[in-house]
Amino acid sequence: MGNIDTNALFKIEYGLYVVTVKGEELDNGLILNAIMQVTAEPLKVAVTVNKQNYSHDLIKASGVMNVCCLNEKAPFSLFQNFGMKSGRDAYKFIGVNAARSNNGLLYLTEYSNAFVSLSVEQYIDLGSHGMFICAVTEAQILDNVPTMTYGYYYNNVKPKKQPAKKGYICKICGYVYEGEPLPDDFICPLCKHPASDFEKIE
Ligand code: FE
Repeated sequence: MGNIDTNALFKIEYGLYVVTVKGEELDNGLILNAIMQVTAEPLKVAVTVNKQNYSHDLIKASGVMNVCCLNEKAPFSLFQNFGMKSGRDAYKFIGVNAARSNNGLLYLTEYSNAFVSLSVEQYIDLGSHGMFICAVTEAQILDNVPTMTYGYYYNNVKPKKQPAKKGYICKICGYVYEGEPLPDDFICPLCKHPASDFEKIE
């Protein structure tokens, strides 16, 4: 094996998506980046979700979800709302402009340039994550604002100010772990990313 510079993996670009799911009683949703079309005929999309996310269990139980493709106008508050709290504790659609697709799930009608409705056909257990291989049941373009990539989010949306605290900061969501050292098996309580996505605050 050669050297592995994990920063090289950041060069693989992703979009950012709000995935909506059917909750036990209420609608739920979360932010994901690991989504891609994997085949064209038949049309299939793969969605990978951390098992610690409540939505992982909801997708597994219901077998359906909507992928809302965020556009470059999406504000940081939307990422805080959908990405940094759990649907176990909070209803995330207060003040969010949304409508229902044919599968009965919500999709965002603002800050999203398209939505794709998915029906799960296959589940692959990846240990920390589950991968859902899905058929497409509906898909609509909503506007022509460019898709929010992770790079655009990092450079233009995520606040740059670092807190004057000691510890480690999550490069994904900005959560600060105050302490030394950061445990190797630490998982960000907000975005569920591992210790390798934290950097020391100097
Ligand atoms: Fe985080």
